[in-house]
Amino acid sequence: MTVTDLIVVGAGPAGSSAAIFASRLGIDVIILEKQRKGRDKFCGGGITYGVEKLMVEKIGKEVSESIELRIDGVVVFSPSGRELVLKFSEELKKFGGLVRRSVFDSKLMEIAESEGAELREKREVVKVRTEKDEVVVTTRDGEELRSSYLVVATGSEDKIGEQLGIPPLGKEGMGGCWGTEVKFDVEEIKNEWKKKWGLVPIFLFFGPVPSGYAWIFPKREFLNIGIGTTLSHFRYHEERFTSFLRKAAGIGVIPETNFKHDRAATIPFGKVPRSKTYSEEGRALLVGDAAGFVHPVTGEGIYGAIRGSLIAARVVKVAMDKEDPSQLRRYEERWWSEFGEDTLGYGKKIAKLLYGSSFMMEMGVKVVMCDKEASRRLGLLLAHYDSEVSRKMYERISGLNLVGLALKSLRSPKRAEFEVIP
Ligand SMILES: Cc1cc2nc3c(=O)[nH]c(=O)nc-3n(C[C@H](O)[C@H](O)[C@H](O)COP(=O)(O)OP(=O)(O)OC[C@H]3O[C@@H](n4cnc5c(N)ncnc54)[C@H](O)[C@@H]3O)c2cc1C
Repeated sequence: MTVTDLIVVGAGPAGSSAAIFASRLGIDVIILEKQRKGRDKFCGGGITYGVEKLMVEKIGKEVSESIELRIDGVVVFSPSGRELVLKFSEELKKFGGLVRRSVFDSKLMEIAESEGAELREKREVVKVRTEKDEVVVTTRDGEELRSSYLVVATGSEDKIGEQLGIPPLGKEGMGGCWGTEVKFDVEEIKNEWKKKWGLVPIFLFFGPVPSGYAWIFPKREFLNIGIGTTLSHFRYHEERFTSFLRKAAGIGVIPETNFKHDRAATIPFGKVPRSKTYSEEGRALLVGDAAGFVHPVTGEGIYGAIRGSLIAARVVKVAMDKEDPSQLRRYEERWWSEFGEDTLGYGKKIAKLLYGSSFMMEMGVKVVMCDKEASRRLGLLLAHYDSEVSRKMYERISGLNLVGLALKSLRSPKRAEFEVIP
């Protein structure tokens, strides 16, 4: 029976970063991961300015080695084909880009190990319970491990939270994504994009799916293409994916439609976060997707995974030092004030405005593209430039401002281009 200070279950970005931060605080950590280092995860791999900056500051410069392609901005399409080109200023290009998750996640795991955390691969946790002041974790092969505290970083399909009495996210809080990441001559297509849009961007399409969006993200030698929506709209994905490809090819974003969707994944989306993200009795904190820390508009989850895990490690440290598991309660106050209110609170308000219907998505893009300031704020939100991006975006496009913008949008152009300067 192994005894340690902290067991982290799951070695995605949330689990590995929790292990890094906790190890640096002098906590003995064992990470249990059901797969192996190098496992892939279907994900756009979009690392925003905000999350790369955070990782460089709090984890280390070496994380940036896994960024394989830098982008110059974002091109957004409305359901009817309106086009908003957001060009990042030099400042915004200092951080952010695209990763392949197999590479990025391995890098974080390696950093966690180099900080002293012990990574045990092929260990699926199937059961957790508490005995006096210890957590007892059982793996699928029957091994039992004990620790003082537990961090649950098992992703969107977490099953451990329920064992701790925490209700799952449920259909209302879950999204589904389908798509592919295929080898592709990205150099050639980048040249086409430069000719047509003057930049190498990521592409976001509103319209191909209800309550969500479709995307095309370039990597160094791969294209990542997908559609994502809420689980309640989890239907007709094959038809939707195919018609999205036709649309993207028609505009000239991709040269062909011959892509097969061969990957699918769930994502916390919509009614997030989870109703509770800690268990005092279970001596546990939930981080990353297991906690539902995904932006309700953009689907960006790596930011919440890293920020939440930093807070989780600090809260566990205080609980350990004071020998008081009731300190875990502080976790929710802290993540809410540090990033939750902006990312999840204001994020949900924007999502409510935007994702109501195809008409609302069209209006949303029109309203933003007719207003330089709203476009600037959207660009900063997509780059996750600071901790107030969602609030600032919401304030610009809601209340009285919305009335003015709606009138102005009657004259919205088919195409608009702005430089996004922080
Ligand atoms: C299609 C798609 C596109 C996305 N695009 C982006 C994007 O571009 N940018 C962005 O920021 N976010 C994006 N996200 C969200 C992002 O992928 C997640 O928010 C992020 O992976 C969350 O990290 P995590 O560590 O919480 O969970 P995960 O990355 O899911 O890691 C969980 C880990 O736990 C392990 N595990 C699970 N159960 C157990 C168990 N019982 N025992 C042991 N190990 C276990 C799993 O094997 C896995 O390694 C996207 C998501 C999807 C689905």
